Amino acid sequence: MAGRGVLIIGASLAGGSAALALRENGYDGPVTLVGDEKEAPYERPPLSKQVMQGERDQPDWVLADGDASAWAAQDITFRSGRRATGIDAAARTVTLDDGDVLGYESLVLATGSEPRRLSIPGSDRAHTLRTLDDSLAIRRAAEAGGRVAIIGGSWIGCEVGASLRRHGCDVEIVEKAPGLLSILGSDEVSARLLDLHRAQGVAVTLGADVREVTADGVVLADRVVEASLVVQAVGVAPRLDLARAAGLAEAAGGVAVSSTLRTSDPHIWAAGDIAAVDHPRYGKPVRVEHWDVAAKHGQYLGKALTGSSEPYTRAPYFFSDQYELGFEYRGWVEPGASAEVVVRGADPAGSWYAFWLVDGAVQAVLNANAWDDGDAIWKLVNGRASVEKARLTDPSVPLAELT
Ligand SMILES: Cc1cc2nc3c(=O)[nH]c(=O)nc-3n(C[C@H](O)[C@H](O)[C@H](O)COP(=O)(O)OP(=O)(O)OC[C@H]3O[C@@H](n4cnc5c(N)ncnc54)[C@H](O)[C@@H]3O)c2cc1C
Repeated sequence: MAGRGVLIIGASLAGGSAALALRENGYDGPVTLVGDEKEAPYERPPLSKQVMQGERDQPDWVLADGDASAWAAQDITFRSGRRATGIDAAARTVTLDDGDVLGYESLVLATGSEPRRLSIPGSDRAHTLRTLDDSLAIRRAAEAGGRVAIIGGSWIGCEVGASLRRHGCDVEIVEKAPGLLSILGSDEVSARLLDLHRAQGVAVTLGADVREVTADGVVLADRVVEASLVVQAVGVAPRLDLARAAGLAEAAGGVAVSSTLRTSDPHIWAAGDIAAVDHPRYGKPVRVEHWDVAAKHGQYLGKALTGSSEPYTRAPYFFSDQYELGFEYRGWVEPGASAEVVVRGADPAGSWYAFWLVDGAVQAVLNANAWDDGDAIWKLVNGRASVEKARLTDPSVPLAELT
């Protein structure tokens, strides 16, 4: 059995960031990072953007240029292509798929998410997108020619649609909801996204009742969307098998963690997509499947596992790029909560903002093509500012003057 120390399962953004942060914070015990992908830890956002557009074949790497030996230089033992199959919480050991048993003093679970698949005939004919290989396979299939159908019009579906369109493909997005990005709960934002995609020549079918995927494309209740390539982008499911087998408490569809990211087992922490944080800012379990959260959870654990007891207080943040438009979103609206959304900026192709108001206070802000207001937006979101709607929506009032 290898020596104890910190063992991290899941070698992607949250896990890789945690390993590096331990060293940055002076931890000098053994750090072992285990991941079931063959690559060194990488960041996924380029997979639906630059890689999908054919601009490059590489993701962004968490360390160096994807050179696994760079981890050894940080005194981090990196075991790629190895899956953890079980946790013995009493013995504080993890078993790997090659039979190795690794001991730990502290265990970090950063097992992330996997794409959901629709339970319809032919579902496995459709590509899903999570890994570098997935992205390259979709791009290659698109380059072979023919129409592309994308099932799902949320972030990944919209980004893949935009990227393949830019790559010269004939694309149709089919979405069950009455609008794109309906997850945001704003008809106005959905309408702007719809205009954006249609203006770029992407066909969008809303309210689609998808019945089957065949060699001809996607069968809807009322017609067939002809396509030689079908991509399913219908959301992700957190990978909870290890946590469940270890009997860890759950919340908000993930692993319940305290405000210091500790699970119900005092020797086990969780980070990234799987972690439902008892968030001091919201007083509720907050689980967010986005890049910044995974990176910041990892960085936070470097401090928490070296003695800091400061809680994790950062509000969620994410970004998206589609065509020439870049989006950022700061804050958190509880899924299912009723929020009023007001929009500033009349030109959907220019700079515009959407504000989510709960009980009159700014809970979250989306900015599109506006890059200089980050600090002012954080102030609005972190302070849950109550601002008159007329001032929020008036472009002549600088955001910095709203708080
Ligand atoms: C195509 C794509 C584009 C995205 N674009 C954006 C974006 O623009 N903006 C944004 O904010 N977010 C984006 N995201 C979301 C963001 O990438 C995720 O939130 C982030 O990757 C989560 O990091 P994580 O480390 O928690 O999990 P993951 O990245 O899912 O990594 C978990 C790792 O653990 C491994 N693993 C799981 N179980 C085991 C096991 N038992 N043993 C060993 N290894 C295991 C997995 O194989 C994986 O490598 C995108 C995601 C995708 C897929």
